[in-house]
Amino acid sequence: MPADRRFGFRTRALHAGTPPDPATGARAQPIYLSSAFVFDSTAHATELFSLRSYGTIYTRLGNPTVAAFEEKIASLEGGLGAVATSSGQAAQIVAVLALAQSGDHLVASANLYGGTVTQFAVTLARLGIEVAFVADGDPAAMARAVTPRTKALYAETIGNPRGAVADIGAMAQAAHAAGVPLIIDNTFASPYLCRPIEHGADIVLHSGTKYICGHGTVMAGVVVDAGTFAWAEKHQLITQPSPGYHGMNFRETFGEYAFLLRARAEVLRDLGCCLSPMDAWLLIQGLESLAIRVEAQTRNARAVADFLAQREEVAWVRYAGLPDDPEFRRAQRYLPVGAGAILTFGLRGGRPAAVAFIEALQLWSHVANVGDVKSLVIHPASTTHSQLTEEEMAAAGVGPDMVRLSVGLEDVDDLLWDLSNGLQAAHGAALAVPTA
Ligand SMILES: *Cc1c(COP(=O)(O)O)cnc(C)c1O
Repeated sequence: MPADRRFGFRTRALHAGTPPDPATGARAQPIYLSSAFVFDSTAHATELFSLRSYGTIYTRLGNPTVAAFEEKIASLEGGLGAVATSSGQAAQIVAVLALAQSGDHLVASANLYGGTVTQFAVTLARLGIEVAFVADGDPAAMARAVTPRTKALYAETIGNPRGAVADIGAMAQAAHAAGVPLIIDNTFASPYLCRPIEHGADIVLHSGTKYICGHGTVMAGVVVDAGTFAWAEKHQLITQPSPGYHGMNFRETFGEYAFLLRARAEVLRDLGCCLSPMDAWLLIQGLESLAIRVEAQTRNARAVADFLAQREEVAWVRYAGLPDDPEFRRAQRYLPVGAGAILTFGLRGGRPAAVAFIEALQLWSHVANVGDVKSLVIHPASTTHSQLTEEEMAAAGVGPDMVRLSVGLEDVDDLLWDLSNGLQAAHGAALAVPTA
């Protein structure tokens, strides 16, 4: 894109990273389904392999279609560059292992996606990386949890399951005071609603499976780096000679690109969790309409929250866009355009009411996903959190009465009609269970 103008979000969503194809003139991004790319000469091949020149070698390490997606999302987040991965879980492990090794430590907000909690608490622990989970993502408590081995602070913009909004600015201050970067999972907000780098975050990641794709078709993830963090000696994996590249020092060799190169050329190379070019293409299609999708879905979500808040059958609604929600003020700061399209609510009548509600719905799909243009519903206590004990569920804020909605793009009257039918069924179930 021409450098003499700073284009707006919607323009960048359409044009950043995807100019007309120089080889063919194709206006849509071509899909380069090729595992490998021909070298000019053996000297060229050696240059590429030793990272002395930058180019395409093998699709596990990089691919033109994947690179177009990476450039587009980096532009939308306001980052220097990005590394795409095969899923959101893969994005997390790539970001963490780019910085941390056995004996190291992370400080994370406890308000996290369940899969992230398991990955951090079980798999990272087995690799010798310990994670301190801090209740409510309190920035002062996160600062206190830092140890000399801490390599990063970690949180989600809008955290599971209660929709807590992270105080990204205060967390970034705590991280920088400790000499470590702040990593933010921005999946639930999408870069349209929040750009954590603007609030001080250093590394942003996504499950591309959700709003970035937007159509429930692709598993994907991505790690975006602001390129501004001052890597110091404590970040040995970036500032010390690497045995993976004949003693190369990423900070000295690549400067502001050090983290991105370390994540790609060592972690992605060695773990192998790369994104398919076909899936990258679907993500590019998704990003083109991200702004209008998320805007319309957020509008629908606000209408759904208002509707539920007025219903007798509903005990409580948690949506940071509601003025009386405990997260409302923080959402005003970090999500000024809207609080997103995911919300939770509780049914009077507990689990039987929640089950009857979900089973009565016709339009809302009962699935373990969010961020689709189709409206989705799930009962966390009997699905995503069903392995937990009642006490663990209570600690995670997941009660048997809780229902989670991911609001889609349907006509809002149709969504409310279906919810209304569900609530009638829930009411019937609640009456049938006197203990509820
Ligand atoms: C879904 C999700 C993930 C995991 O992403 P996958 O693409 O399912 O691997 C991580 N974080 C958040 C907030 C998510 O919603």
